[in-house]
Amino acid sequence: MIAFIKNILSKIFTFGNQHTQMRKHIILFGPPGSGKGTQAKQLEEKYGLVQISTGDLFRYEMGNDTPLGLKAKEYMAKGELVPDEVTVGMLKNKVNQTSEAKGFIFDGFPRTINQAEALDEFLQTKDESVAALIALEVDDDEIVNRLLERGKTSGRADDSDESIIRNRINIYKQETSPVYKFYDKKSKSKTLNGIGSIDIIFNRLCDEIEAL
Ligand code: AMP
Repeated sequence: MIAFIKNILSKIFTFGNQHTQMRKHIILFGPPGSGKGTQAKQLEEKYGLVQISTGDLFRYEMGNDTPLGLKAKEYMAKGELVPDEVTVGMLKNKVNQTSEAKGFIFDGFPRTINQAEALDEFLQTKDESVAALIALEVDDDEIVNRLLERGKTSGRADDSDESIIRNRINIYKQETSPVYKFYDKKSKSKTLNGIGSIDIIFNRLCDEIEAL
């Protein structure tokens, strides 16, 4: 009888622990072309987290000519941000549809202070929060070279035109980079050198994540 009760108690205890440990949400931050998507896919595999890339979600909607995709298209073509209310709504739906995830790697979200506030409020309703924002630092010239190179095979119009790429970089500096400070005030922001081989950067990221 005592063993039975102990067993039940340990199950409850372990479940509680697993649940809190598992829901580790990480924001992978950095300018376009800093390698967020590539790294997120590897992190997803290693830690069993789920990558949510708002850019990929918009491209999926565009590919299917949905009303959401059509709305996003005009902004994406110019390298501008899709309005917050559209982006946040889409993000929340995706999180809620993936409720079994151990945690999320947010890739390309949040991109404005408004989005960051909306994300924090949304996670709070689930008694959860962002564990860390990890920024990959890459200089402008490297970004332009990387994106133009990617544009040769990605088929993305926003990767093929230098003036659109420069617009994306400017928007990142003006609207997105304050998000770093937003989480820094909560002692959650970290910066990594985003130049180097994919494996070296992956190892740097893993060290940060395992230290959380
Ligand atoms: P990405 O694939 O992350 O480079 O995003 C491509 C484009 O999708 C961006 O230039 C924006 O037009 C749009 N987009 C992606 N994520 C967001 C976001 N969080 N907020 C607003 N627009 C976004």
